[in-house]
Amino acid sequence: MGRVVGIDLGTTNSSVAILEGGTPTVIVNAEGHRTTPSVVAVSSSGERLVGIQARNQAILNPGNTVYSVKHLMGQRYDDPKIVKLREKLPYSLVRADNDAAWVEMASKPISPPEIAAMILARLKTDAEAYLNDEVTGAVITVPAYFDDGQRNATKDAGEIAGLQVERIINEPTAAALAYGHGDHAASSASDQPQIVAVYDLGGGTFDISIVDIHADMIEVLATNGDTFLGGDDFDDRIISKLVDGFRAEHSVNLREIPSAVQRIKDAVVQAKHDLSTLKSATVNLPFIAADISGPLNLLATISRDEFEELTGDLVESTLAACTRALDDAQLAPEDITRVLLVGGQTRMPAVQRRVGEFFGQEPLRGINPDEAVALGAALQAATLDGEELQKVLVDVTPMTLSSEDYQGRAISIIPRNTAIPTSATSYWSTVADFQRSVDVNILQGEGELAKDNKLLGGFTLDGIRLAKKGEPTIEVTFDIDADGIVHASARDVDTGAENKVTVNTNNDLSMQQIDESRERVERFELQEREQREID
Ligand code: AMP
Repeated sequence: MGRVVGIDLGTTNSSVAILEGGTPTVIVNAEGHRTTPSVVAVSSSGERLVGIQARNQAILNPGNTVYSVKHLMGQRYDDPKIVKLREKLPYSLVRADNDAAWVEMASKPISPPEIAAMILARLKTDAEAYLNDEVTGAVITVPAYFDDGQRNATKDAGEIAGLQVERIINEPTAAALAYGHGDHAASSASDQPQIVAVYDLGGGTFDISIVDIHADMIEVLATNGDTFLGGDDFDDRIISKLVDGFRAEHSVNLREIPSAVQRIKDAVVQAKHDLSTLKSATVNLPFIAADISGPLNLLATISRDEFEELTGDLVESTLAACTRALDDAQLAPEDITRVLLVGGQTRMPAVQRRVGEFFGQEPLRGINPDEAVALGAALQAATLDGEELQKVLVDVTPMTLSSEDYQGRAISIIPRNTAIPTSATSYWSTVADFQRSVDVNILQGEGELAKDNKLLGGFTLDGIRLAKKGEPTIEVTFDIDADGIVHASARDVDTGAENKVTVNTNNDLSMQQIDESRERVERFELQEREQREID
């Protein structure tokens, strides 16, 4: 039996951690870093690159360098959020046969889970080199607000990477575990129960979780968030300002030049980081484009005040989600004992200030916002591996699970913030005489109408006995497992006939696609290992 590690698969950076001598520890990668950029590329010579090597060549090879793949996990090509994203990315997305959004790399379509798997496989290789042992399983974290499709895609990615996915856990919950363990728990009123708000603003996603930490239990009371709101959006505000200014001055649209987009992105991220400690930052990009007069330069200075004004609404929208989470937990800001900041974007002073004002207390920055999630995942991995050190963990489902009625309304089956695992039963019948089958659509979200929610998939109940409308009774049981993934089964109450049904998300990978992807990723990781041995 190999080892089980904890993995934070982030939008911008990923990391892997294990429990060593009772202490969760982040593993340093082959390049000596504690995080690995979540970037994958195919170089001009056809070589696959992962992590820092992929990121380092992004400017020269923007069309074949994939970053922020987390946004694409389990998404439809036509989803409005993906349509918007397509305009901004320097690499291309394509529509897969099942309408999922796939990526085009080196002229080949490739699924987002396979790209994520390359990052996971690299973390696995790094962990094996460090441990000198085989890694066979992982606890992988996802944003609390990930829906069923996004969770399934993450599980697929783990499987493609050759990892048994022991558990999918929510990022803020993992951070709360790390906080609840060891020193922090000891130093902060020891075994006194605490209600902690985990505010997690990463590279691409935002979550807020309200967590009740007792001596022997960690219980999530409510969660809220946005899986399309993160550091990338803060970058975009500066990028848009610079691109618009350049266009007004030179009549050149830098967004149409992929290498320019990548250079601006890199420089803007650096400026954004500088603005967390300095009052102003400069973006200086010589020869970013050319016109008939010759090369053109992009030189701009941005002040912290200006940046805060450009992004104020983003911060406020995170606070609106905090209000919703508190309302669901039936708590007020003053009921919160501690506020934990997680995710790199919380290093921005305005975020810290506004979160502090909202909760009426200084947020805690004692835990490293970039590492807390991986550390919590490692603790959970150790528990699942048989270590008895953990508090019992009770998490919730972030969105309401519902089904669509014949008038297009969403009928709630499992309300949001229900503790998981959970199950619920609903009863169905026919709407026409002698109807032989019923189609059931499964949705996730808070919209009153079915069309305002995410369609997870559906199934057909066949073989209903011939009867007048409304007479047959079909019992459908929905389960949400500890990973937050939905399962369903159906039973004809009259005949007792059972029907195990799979909720087919429209963009799931088939078993065959997973196997093929696994072979490709394995081959590639093997080459990488051999190369390391030669070096
Ligand atoms: P994570 O996914 O938690 O690694 O968060 C990454 C995000 O945090 C990216 O958008 C980074 O640009 C952002 N970030 C990292 N360091 C800083 C910093 N010092 N100031 C502002 N944002 C930062």
